Amino acid sequence: MTRKILVTSALPYANGAIHLGHLVEYIQTDIWVRFQKMAGNECWYVCADDTHGTPIMLRAEKEGITPEQLIERVHGEHYRDFSGFLVGFDNYYTTHSPETRDCANTIYGRLRDAGLIEVRTIEQYFDPVKQLFLPDRFIKGECPKCHAKDQYGDNCEACGAAYAPTDLIEPYSAVSGAKPELRNSEHYFFKLSDPRCEAFLRAYTSSGVLQNEAANKMQEWLGEPGDNKLTDWDISRDAPYFGFEIPDAPGKYFYVWLDAPIGYMGSFRNLCAQKGLDFDEFFKPESTTELYHFIGKDILYFHALFWPAELAHAGYRTPTKIFAHGFLTVDGAKMSKSRGTFITADSFLKTGLNPEWLRYYYAAKLSATMEDIDLNLEDFVARVNADLVGKYVNIASRSAGFIAKRFNGQLAPADGSLPAIRAIQDAAPRIAELYEAREFGKAMREVMALADGANQYVDSVKPWELAKQEGRDADLHAACTNALNLFRLLTVLLKPILPVVAGKVEAFLNIAPLTWADTGSLLAAGHAINAYEHLMTRVDPKLIEKLVEANRESLAPAPEQQSQQRHAEHQQKAAEAPAGEFCSIDDFMKVDLRIARIADAAHVEGADKLVRLTLDIGEEKTRNVFAGIKSAYDPAQLVGRLTVMVANLAPRKMKFGLSEGMVLAASDPDGKTGGLYILSPDSGAQPGMRVK
Ligand SMILES: [Zn+2]
Repeated sequence: MTRKILVTSALPYANGAIHLGHLVEYIQTDIWVRFQKMAGNECWYVCADDTHGTPIMLRAEKEGITPEQLIERVHGEHYRDFSGFLVGFDNYYTTHSPETRDCANTIYGRLRDAGLIEVRTIEQYFDPVKQLFLPDRFIKGECPKCHAKDQYGDNCEACGAAYAPTDLIEPYSAVSGAKPELRNSEHYFFKLSDPRCEAFLRAYTSSGVLQNEAANKMQEWLGEPGDNKLTDWDISRDAPYFGFEIPDAPGKYFYVWLDAPIGYMGSFRNLCAQKGLDFDEFFKPESTTELYHFIGKDILYFHALFWPAELAHAGYRTPTKIFAHGFLTVDGAKMSKSRGTFITADSFLKTGLNPEWLRYYYAAKLSATMEDIDLNLEDFVARVNADLVGKYVNIASRSAGFIAKRFNGQLAPADGSLPAIRAIQDAAPRIAELYEAREFGKAMREVMALADGANQYVDSVKPWELAKQEGRDADLHAACTNALNLFRLLTVLLKPILPVVAGKVEAFLNIAPLTWADTGSLLAAGHAINAYEHLMTRVDPKLIEKLVEANRESLAPAPEQQSQQRHAEHQQKAAEAPAGEFCSIDDFMKVDLRIARIADAAHVEGADKLVRLTLDIGEEKTRNVFAGIKSAYDPAQLVGRLTVMVANLAPRKMKFGLSEGMVLAASDPDGKTGGLYILSPDSGAQPGMRVK
């Protein structure tokens, strides 16, 4: 019987770019989903942007747009990045949707009717300037433990201590800089501590829905009966807030726990309308369909306790399994903006790296455990080149040409008793089990061992020598036919990971889209193939250097969390600026800003701050500019880069020569961070273009 399967990945927050750490999850899920579809199951993969909350509201305000405009733009960026990495969602939706609102209202109403919602008055920090209750991350102050300044309201980045925002010494609002006041407010709570929830969760979390390590963690969190370790969860926030208003509580909004995961349901309901699927068949309590959530280990508490309890007590089915994975490290360490290893999805693709290289590398590293995986950049180059190009693609490139040139593109009968072919066909069910169990790393080791066997066959028959010998046409034809059959079988095994390459192989072999069942067959004698087209290039290590460099530059001033901080500083500065000190557009237009290509850069003898730049701005002659950027840049790394210069600055005679302009760079005026960042235009800009 065909299995009916619904799969989700966690909802990315609509407040930042997708990076390679996120992609571990989406690539892992996508490989699993593609395998299920190839295996003939009905499998739907849905996801959505998580769009609500105070950070979205404040960021939109800062950008001078509506939250709806912000989340629409970010949705486009996220969808572009996921598509770029071949993540094949059946629906990529938004939590800001009528379907999600409807599901949230239904779940809330049913929990309330079951007596599982309680209203309590709590004391919370309020920003008197912004007239807004502040989330923990928007309150800063001195750490109560180590006394480091400017620490967040939930934990200290200097000493790692965790605390409540009310523990901070001299707290201030990161939004307005004002001193926050403690105010009372009524909040809505989901009573996770209710005996009904606890009894359900004890049974649920030990029923095999979790990985062993996760189930053990749940036992710790649940404690022994009578320990009462579960606490009630705050599911509301006060206006102003960007989200869904609670139906029977004007001015109160559903907090993340009561709309984000419900976005899984909202996205699926939207897909049901598009495809004519039956939503209830998938979400009714006695459903025979399967529901899987792929998540990071950091949101396990929430997906393994809160979410199933919410579903079960609102009259819905609970997840069949929850698959948690570990985090990504790069070169053995946490991703770092200063080292250039906090790599965005967009920069990876823009640098010209092939997304299937990363899909293969992640697959080779992934297992069913919650262990972190490491992207070792040197190993990445070596492994992709050795496995995908050296072992796999090589089989086709060494045999396809002879079939075209010597045999009119037609195949001979394949030898089904050939050991290398038998080995792949025997291994296929075992590799299917490894895919099903999310043991992709083990699957790839098997596939590459089978590819070794295929290469040994080709090396033993040596088509390139047969081709030179008189009267060996039949042998050459058989050898190349067998090699292409081996290649086709290996392509089936790799297709969940390499969908684009598999598509090219299908076109070149002139066959229908490969499914898992195709591991049981061989190409027929007389089958005509098309001309071989190049399938995959080797990774050039220089691209990796470029990638790291691109991320070191573009992300040097950290975006996310620190942007809140910069936001606050910006607000304070704006407030301090004396009124009337504006510059008119005419004044601004007097400054002739131009895109400049750094044609050359050199140290200046006897100057400890200056670098001599030769700038091309599309004029006949280059410009000579001395820039005080020696502390931040090695001249060699600047050559070839584009930047922005002031082209009509009066030339200035300096000790070292004439300076004919100025390049623009960002820096912290207080010199606290010490960083200096020269500007770069987006790709496509040309030397000489006017900047305005
Ligand atoms: Zn501290």
